[in-house]
Amino acid sequence: MTRFTLQQRRDAILSPEFDARGRDMLAAPRVGVLALQGDFREHRVMLERLGAVTSEVRRADAVDELDGLVIPGGESTTIGKLIREYGFVEPIRAFAAAGGPVYGSCAGLIALARKIIDGDQPLLGLIDIVARRNAFGRQIRSFEADLAIAALGDGPLRAVFIRAPWIESAGPGVEVLASLSGHGVAARQGRILVTAFHPELTDDTRVHAQFLDSVAQFRRDPAESAGRGSAAVNEEVVS
Ligand code: GLN
Repeated sequence: MTRFTLQQRRDAILSPEFDARGRDMLAAPRVGVLALQGDFREHRVMLERLGAVTSEVRRADAVDELDGLVIPGGESTTIGKLIREYGFVEPIRAFAAAGGPVYGSCAGLIALARKIIDGDQPLLGLIDIVARRNAFGRQIRSFEADLAIAALGDGPLRAVFIRAPWIESAGPGVEVLASLSGHGVAARQGRILVTAFHPELTDDTRVHAQFLDSVAQFRRDPAESAGRGSAAVNEEVVS
């Protein structure tokens, strides 16, 4: 997909023959939600509320067409296996290496991690974190907590945790955005964003809005944070 600069977009609007190409430049961001398993529909609803055009991604060749990708919550062993089986590993890594924003919630955090504790499923290794699966105890299936997340502005975020992981450790390039009981539960590295909880199951749109900011930035300037913590991390991944 061609990406356009702000100047090119301005020129397109002013062009006497404002055509399909011009419309493409001005179109709403196209965000794909990986729809192999999990709560992809809830992510779509939230992103559409915020003005994105969304699609359910079930084919690896669709990744290249996107301005942003979401990996939903669900069962990370299933998502990991299907990511490998359907040939998503390389296209998603290439997308991230080109600066493409990726957001993973819960099982999505696990799929994006460099390494996990308690599991041996294939990982994408796009963020330099070690994730502990079912970290809050297998018997604690679900709970809610108010989190202070400075990066999202004032007001706590009511976070829904469902058999959630936490971030056991994070590399120096990772910014931990929120913690609970002394463990990271939200983080970002370049344009890779992860949360151990499910904002898509609440009415709070701030996490998705933050992700869409990266999407907008990517459309303006794809190269800006390309490779930061993406391609570099891949090498350590055993998948
Ligand atoms: N416990 C799940 C896993 O390890 C994640 C649960 C979720 O996404 N809510 O895959």
